[in-house]
This record gives sequence, C-alpha cells and structure tokens, in this order.
Amino acid sequence: MPDHPCLSCGACCAHYRVAFHWSETEPAPASYVPIELTTALDPHRLAMRGTLSAPVRCTALSGAVGRDAQCTVYARRPSPCRELQPAWEHGEPSPQCDRARVAYGLAPLTPEAWTA
Ligand code: SF4
Ligand code: SF4
Repeated sequence: MPDHPCLSCGACCAHYRVAFHWSETEPAPASYVPIELTTALDPHRLAMRGTLSAPVRCTALSGAVGRDAQCTVYARRPSPCRELQPAWEHGEPSPQCDRARVAYGLAPLTPEAWTA
C-alpha cells in the first residue's frame, strides 16, 4: 500500500472555504474543532481561519502543498474536511479533490494511487 496521497498533497486545505456550524466547536463530542483556529462567518457558522479570502490556506495546515502538507488538528477537523473524500479511495470519483489538486498543478488521483 503506498503512502496516503493526502500526506503529500493538502491542496483542498488551501483551496476551499471551510465553514461549519458553531456547535462543532463545543467540547462534546470530544472531537470538537479548536475554536481559536476559527473565525465568525455569520450568526450560525464559523470558518477555519485562513479559508475566507484569497490566498486560501487553512491555519491548521502545516508543510508545503504538494509536498508534505498535513492537518495539525486531524482528529478534531470540522465536518467539511471529514466529508471531502480523496478521489477513488473508496472507489468513487471526487470532483472537489480533483479541482483542488489541479489548481496546484497536481494530477488528479486515479484508482491506481491506492493500489500501486
Ligand atoms: S485534494 Fe484530495 S488528495 Fe489532496 S489532500 Fe485533499 S482530499 Fe487529499
Ligand atoms: S482543518 Fe485540517 S483538514 Fe480541514 S482544511 Fe484545515 S488543515 Fe485541512
């Protein structure tokens, strides 16, 4: 099994606005999002800092996109991050993943990325 492609990517964390309901920062369940890494979007929603305006880069992302980017709050990442699936990890395409990678000059993932 090759290394997980996300560990040498991070493009989606530096391409999309990451917005979610404020309740995801509440300490129950235990996987709550660190509130200090968020900013208010509207009366009901927060966003990860760094994702509301260009150049987009989530404040929780470390490393270089396309090389060694990693989420520093992976176990506590918000729902949009949990829902964005890497393309073909579970046999399905992911246009969001593809668009983010292409924006950084990275080839879209193929099914072979998970088996080669
Ligand atoms: S763009 Fe796709 S491969 Fe890259 S980090 Fe996001 S989900 Fe993973
Ligand atoms: S919280 Fe983590 S997974 Fe979500 S955008 Fe930020 S760095 Fe990426």
